[in-house]
Amino acid sequence: MLMQSVYVLLIGLCYASIFGIVSSSEAHPGYDSGKCDVGTSASRDQGRILDISHAYREDMPVWDSSEGLGHYLWLAGSMKNGSIANNSEMKMGTHTGTHVDAPGHVFQEYYEAGFDVDTLDLKILNGHALLVDVPRDTNITAKAMEGLNIPRGVHRVLFRTLNTDRHLMWRREFDTSYVGFMKDGAQWLVDNTDIKFVGIDYLSVAAYDDLIPSHLVFLKSKEIILVEGLKLDDIDPGVYSLHCLPLRLLGAEGSPIRCVLMDQILM
Ligand SMILES: [Zn+2]
Repeated sequence: MLMQSVYVLLIGLCYASIFGIVSSSEAHPGYDSGKCDVGTSASRDQGRILDISHAYREDMPVWDSSEGLGHYLWLAGSMKNGSIANNSEMKMGTHTGTHVDAPGHVFQEYYEAGFDVDTLDLKILNGHALLVDVPRDTNITAKAMEGLNIPRGVHRVLFRTLNTDRHLMWRREFDTSYVGFMKDGAQWLVDNTDIKFVGIDYLSVAAYDDLIPSHLVFLKSKEIILVEGLKLDDIDPGVYSLHCLPLRLLGAEGSPIRCVLMDQILM
């Protein structure tokens, strides 16, 4: 009984930390490593929540810019200035930070036909997922994909790459040397796996040199969902329960998305 109480207390603290209830003098809670470890082996079996979305920061990288996101949020109505409540406004691209791409992103006909982020299948965005480490000396080519040996029947994969080791999402300046899918890697995935969810740890699933070709291969069928800019630091490779929810932005081909992993509960 005592152990249960201690465990509940630890879990409580853990959740408080995740949601920023516990303040820290060292860092904003959004800069947390993403781990919520209560320090017992039992915790892995009882449903940790690992936040794999990046917090929006003024110094987070944005596409093809050396300036970073910059000032994206301001108090339009401030209690300090006499408003009855604080009310913020914000402005940012829909492909900022951890975000999802809809088919209309790279196909004009899909954009005009309304294949926006609100048409994305929540069943693909939520379910079992595999986190794999991509060898650090390569883009995601057909050869690299083959070497990962991802079995048939796996529908969601989070690809962790050199981008995580290089902390690219923590650097203001956009870096074109990030790792992503080459066209042949994307085609290999489409032809040889059952993957419908592709997650990656920088701002594009596609390598800079194959930017549009790889996106076209992935999004042509409208069956594969791309989530970019994931925070995969300090998470063990393996199988998790993945939960991702985009905003219901009608007409938008991209959206910020909140993704978390939960440990598999072994019954
Ligand atoms: Zn995007």
